[in-house]
Amino acid sequence: MPLTIGVPTETAPGERRAALVPDAVARLVKAGAEVVVQSGAGQQAYVPDAAYEAAGARIGARGDAWGAEVVARVQGPAAEDLPLLGAGRTLIGFLRPLDDPRGMAALAATGATALAMELVPRTTRAQKMDALSAMATVAGYRAVLLAAEALPKFFPLLTTAAGTVRPAKVLVLGAGVAGLQAIATARRLGAVVSAYDVRAAAAEEARSLGATFVQLELDTVGAEGGGGYAAALDEQRQRRQVELLAEHVAASDVVITTALIPGRPAPLLVSEEGVRRMAPGSVVVDLAAPNGGNCALTRPGEVFDAGGVRVFGPLNLPAEMPLNASQMYARTLSAMILEWIRDGAFAPPPDDDIFRAACVARGGEVVNDRVRAMLHPAPA
Ligand code: NAD
Repeated sequence: MPLTIGVPTETAPGERRAALVPDAVARLVKAGAEVVVQSGAGQQAYVPDAAYEAAGARIGARGDAWGAEVVARVQGPAAEDLPLLGAGRTLIGFLRPLDDPRGMAALAATGATALAMELVPRTTRAQKMDALSAMATVAGYRAVLLAAEALPKFFPLLTTAAGTVRPAKVLVLGAGVAGLQAIATARRLGAVVSAYDVRAAAAEEARSLGATFVQLELDTVGAEGGGGYAAALDEQRQRRQVELLAEHVAASDVVITTALIPGRPAPLLVSEEGVRRMAPGSVVVDLAAPNGGNCALTRPGEVFDAGGVRVFGPLNLPAEMPLNASQMYARTLSAMILEWIRDGAFAPPPDDDIFRAACVARGGEVVNDRVRAMLHPAPA
């Protein structure tokens, strides 16, 4: 029996990506797998059933896709999907393990193996499976387009017979993958861009893309966590950071915030006062909205009008560019499956470092230490 891989239709509100696209299907079929795509799974990403069929997939019903040995998803299962999983099966997707530990326990109870794309380690071998970075690239790009569209001003410098227009000033807070893409995109549109990050290494990267790096009178020793991620600042330095950033925020037309600390609420970077000091018509796009936001006025999933300054809290920008976002995501997810196909079967070695890092549930148990600690906090 060949390995079966299922692609059910995503059902989360606003989700338009598909977990696999025809190109990825063709690679998996070539490796000996049988791919079953739920009819319409690619429709929102502009991938018709016929394109999947042409790549070698079979089109089936919801139960066929969920019934596969490996289920490929963008987002985790809804409650009504859980009974369709079971022992001997593997679910792969953005499962939000550290945001939803109870969901992980429910997933573990099905007996299935669950692999969270968020937990893929940042090693050279795992780079091709780095779905978070792929989606951060899309989000950083889209955040700038959102801001440019909302701003009642041009981004570029214009010299015309009708006068000279000064370029927009864009401040990017958090110069990781999303932030660097935001810098590059804002520069391409002609804005004057500045950026800030607690990691010292980010300064050179931001400058190489044409941004000015903001230096704060702030001790950031210890702000570099493992794997390129940042660590949280203590409360006093966090407060000082917000104060120092306020004048840079006030002087900007657009602020794009992207700062995250894995497994924690997003750090506060922009105070209400900072926003209120911005000129009317200015725009804040808070990419950390799903994790609570970097701006005190962010309302996740909404646009908040603070006296003429609009604060956007988008929850899923990659879903708004579903064609490329699906292609990029599918590339990372199929790389993970292909890594572990052995003699036609999906058989990740249990001691593989990528498998161990990404695996949240297995054999009926939650196996990720951080998720376990969240489910069973040690007594004080
Ligand atoms: P992230 O999404 O976790 O955070 C976004 C940015 O916010 C980070 O740059 C972080 O330093 C910054 N930040 C956190 N707290 C902050 C604060 N209080 N003030 C200002 N900035 C703050 O990070 P990311 O974008 O996924 O990646 C960060 C780094 O890791 C980048 O340098 C990236 O190149 C590197 N990376 C390496 C690999 C790999 O080695 N395979 C893969 C992906 C990313």
